[in-house]
Amino acid sequence: MIHLKSERELEIMARGGRVLALTHEHLRPLVHPGISTQELDEAAEAFIRSHAGATPAFKGLYGFPGATCISVNEEIVHGIPSRKRILKGGDIVKLDVGVKLEGYFTDASITVPVGTVTPEIERLIDTTRRSLDAGIAAAVVGNHIGDIGAAIWSVVGPAGYTVADDLVGHYVGTKPHGDPQVPNKGKPKRGMKLLPGLTIAIEPMVNIGGSATRTLSDKWTIVTADGSPSAHFEHTVAITEAGPRVLTRAA
Ligand code: MG
Repeated sequence: MIHLKSERELEIMARGGRVLALTHEHLRPLVHPGISTQELDEAAEAFIRSHAGATPAFKGLYGFPGATCISVNEEIVHGIPSRKRILKGGDIVKLDVGVKLEGYFTDASITVPVGTVTPEIERLIDTTRRSLDAGIAAAVVGNHIGDIGAAIWSVVGPAGYTVADDLVGHYVGTKPHGDPQVPNKGKPKRGMKLLPGLTIAIEPMVNIGGSATRTLSDKWTIVTADGSPSAHFEHTVAITEAGPRVLTRAA
């Protein structure tokens, strides 16, 4: 059964989501050539824990070793922070962060360029961000889950990119992941109807090349099968009578 949130519960999630958004703002200026993904992870964890009651939700989740998932270039999601992974100019890094506060989870990701990136990479990042905005705009009462994916794909497809196979958004709130799944490609008016109080993570994962993926031998990191770069933006969003409410915002 899907848990629909009361206004009081949404306020708790918005407080956790604010910590998450501020964590992204804290990390963004730290991203530069020469920093390791481990250093970014440690900075994220310390920042989250500096807020009373907040913890990094991914730490130990299903056995994940990091506090956050940090994925570089062709790594789509679930990259393990490492002291050996040093960022260099021209890379893109995806900072996927979960926060748990007072029993409620929020989840959001940003893609950040390292130094100067090529115009093609800039276009990938911009397209992915715009596809998330389109998906959020479709997250309204009366629409269906499929309308969100259709809206995301209406931005990604015409740009000539693909969305990663089998990687989807999801219910988030009383647990870090659950049903319904929120695919990044969908048919309008298909899937579950969106109800007030439903909270979901909308998260397009967009590849310059093909949609196929594979998992590295570390059993976590999912990469594009063809090695092409991938971008990822994600927000936790509540469906409300007043329209989509983004819970992972700083203000
Ligand atoms: Mg996430």
